[in-house]
Amino acid sequence: MIMDLRSDTFTKPTKGMLQAMFAAEVGDDVFGEDPTINRLEALSADIFGKEAALFCPSGTMTNQIAIKCHTQPGQEVICDKLSHVYIYEGGGIAFNSGCQVKAIEGARGRLNASQVREAINPDDIHKAPTSLVSLENTANRGGGSCYEIADLEEIKDVCRENNLKLHLDGARLFNALIATNQTTETYGKLFDSISICLSKGLGTPVGSLLLGREAFIHQARRVRKVLGGGMRQAGYLAAAGIYALENNIARLQDDHNHAKLIAEALVKKSFVGKILPVETNILIFELVDRYSAGEFAAELDKFGVKVIPISAKQVRMVTHLDVSPEMVANLISIIKSF
Ligand SMILES: *Cc1c(COP(=O)(O)O)cnc(C)c1O
Repeated sequence: MIMDLRSDTFTKPTKGMLQAMFAAEVGDDVFGEDPTINRLEALSADIFGKEAALFCPSGTMTNQIAIKCHTQPGQEVICDKLSHVYIYEGGGIAFNSGCQVKAIEGARGRLNASQVREAINPDDIHKAPTSLVSLENTANRGGGSCYEIADLEEIKDVCRENNLKLHLDGARLFNALIATNQTTETYGKLFDSISICLSKGLGTPVGSLLLGREAFIHQARRVRKVLGGGMRQAGYLAAAGIYALENNIARLQDDHNHAKLIAEALVKKSFVGKILPVETNILIFELVDRYSAGEFAAELDKFGVKVIPISAKQVRMVTHLDVSPEMVANLISIIKSF
């Protein structure tokens, strides 16, 4: 049996989720007439105490729509240099919004308030006006690291003082909430917009949500249409989203436990160097001497375990819904045998 740790996007819908999808009532969502999508949007907005939500095909689209709605061409966006919006969205900030990025070197993918304050451009005709700060939680390339609320509040204050919008790429926000005991309402208050992925650890086949104020989501809906993201009877997908929000959040703790167990096995091996602290379901570690990242991935592949080399020396593993305790035990004995 294949153990796929390349990403938590590899999950396949469970029987319960498929039944919910089959049973969905649908309509044309471009006309606003898909009752299941309307229900998912209302439910998710409500969970975060936001006014409205928009269902989109991907997290790249929800992020890019948010950036487009918060900026004008020629402005500048502040984010960590490892941010998904900056390094994994095909240059979308330039392509879609005509903005440039001030990329900051944070701590495992996270910024602090003084870094944000220093990165804001003065009112000078030589400079691009700063208009948006985009944060990521959990921070993917930071090894699934999580923000403290106090740090987010300080960043929010800097944004408020400087009239900047604050966006959250919360592709794995529920992992952060479970790991830290933080609440959805706190996040709803801190951020002007939040993007949530349903297709990662929550286990749906497709879909992300953008949350914000009514007027913002109205504008976001226009941009979604321009980008070709207006879907029709997508309530079948939204039904999977509702099912995930109702059933698959608390169990994320299992994924976090699994990642920690794998890290405990790796740390004992001489060929493993630095392991980023394991806070959630992402495990990033360095290989020293014996293997390159690619060679280590190839060794594991022989045992049916798939992982991603993310640089010459670094491997990433991501645990999720389709990774069972038996698979984790099996992987640990494979690691011990190396
Ligand atoms: C996966 C991911 C996204 C969205 O990716 P899509 O594949 O477009 O859904 C956004 N941000 C982060 C941090 C991610 O890991």
